[in-house]
Amino acid sequence: MSMRGARRPGGPTTRLAIRADLLDFTADPGWSAADDAPGLRYRADHWLLVEDGRVAGVQPGAPDASWQRQDHMGRLLMPGFVDTHVHMPQLEVIASYGAELLEWLNTYTFPAERRYADATVCEAGAQRFLDALLAHGTTSAVVFPTVHPGSADALFAAAQQRGMRVIAGQCLMDRHAPADLTVAVERAEADSEALIARWHGRDRLAYAVTVRFAPTSTDAQLAMAGRLLARHDGLYMQTHVAENRAELAWVAELFPNARSYLDVYARHGLLGTRSVLAHGIWLDATDRDALARSRSQIAHSPSSNLFLGSGLMPWRAHEDAGVPVSLATDVGGGTSLAMLRTLADAYKVQALQHVRLPAWKALYTATRGAAHALGLDSEIGSFDTGCTADLALWDWAHGSVAIARDDAARTLHERVFAWMTLADERNLQATWVAGQPLYRTPETTT
Ligand SMILES: [Zn+2]
Repeated sequence: MSMRGARRPGGPTTRLAIRADLLDFTADPGWSAADDAPGLRYRADHWLLVEDGRVAGVQPGAPDASWQRQDHMGRLLMPGFVDTHVHMPQLEVIASYGAELLEWLNTYTFPAERRYADATVCEAGAQRFLDALLAHGTTSAVVFPTVHPGSADALFAAAQQRGMRVIAGQCLMDRHAPADLTVAVERAEADSEALIARWHGRDRLAYAVTVRFAPTSTDAQLAMAGRLLARHDGLYMQTHVAENRAELAWVAELFPNARSYLDVYARHGLLGTRSVLAHGIWLDATDRDALARSRSQIAHSPSSNLFLGSGLMPWRAHEDAGVPVSLATDVGGGTSLAMLRTLADAYKVQALQHVRLPAWKALYTATRGAAHALGLDSEIGSFDTGCTADLALWDWAHGSVAIARDDAARTLHERVFAWMTLADERNLQATWVAGQPLYRTPETTT
């Protein structure tokens, strides 16, 4: 089966209508916290119409009985979140104590990733990971599996089964990692080609050439990654860049001819409109210019940056230079799969730099903004007619403190900001992928 929610040839049209407060964006709202911010589209108590898995329209009154109606009046419906950087095999090392990046990789991450040599671990891990994303209101993701081709196969298969938009690829490492987590260049190129042939462009799946980070790749492997990107249309590229200062110093030692950490990737043709680079904290103006010119995006991972003590990402400087920014949990460096917690942490990271992040900017970036940066805004991230109906339904408040705070809100931004800051996966009521209900809290009644 493919494309759950899409009408099978000759099959009946499926029509779903959901009543709720609808919040999405038509464009980047900038840094305005006003209730009339540009690009903000809030429609209190409306019906979202979904036909054959796609958004068919929005209207204030109930549609006729040809629609299956679900009345969630008083709840908040948004496009599902897009997490642009998260590690499938790291759920079991989330919340690991006491290490900065390089030590954290060796102590916690690499041992966990070794287990994915086993096909049954891959399959169970992929199912558990995607179900967990859906249980946090995330419907699309850019994902790191492990160096094992089977881990990418299992992830793509599980995503296909759920009809999810997932971008992923075999992780490339050929040095500075345990021997059983490195793959020689020729072998990795053959593995990647086979995975691309099997999965890229199939249903809602896309392949990402996945370089772990510069220190675990030789120049020969980075050159191979560039060849893959040049050889196939529409591939994505994902990696890490400029996360922490010890890492920066190590990259400078390993690649003495590169102008900067980012330049290691630029030299091998790894920057471009479909390139997603996690973190991007320690970059200079020349790096920002290279990112902006190539339209490569930074996947800002504030929870991870705080937890590992990596640094404060300068969002305004990136944006002022024209660098696209998306938001990511970076689990297991990040401490929650909930994009809402990530947004709350993003606010705090900016506050430490004397910048205030409005709820509009944060929520836009986690939905339509990410979709735009990935070149997918005609498919995901909004309630535009024709978009795939990937949806998350939220309670405005959960628990006595949040309920009192919600009652006290005087403006829409105040209400949404309090929701964004206080809410988490416990507020989630239901998640749909292409119009199909794939997650629901046990107590939800419809
Ligand atoms: Zn990461």
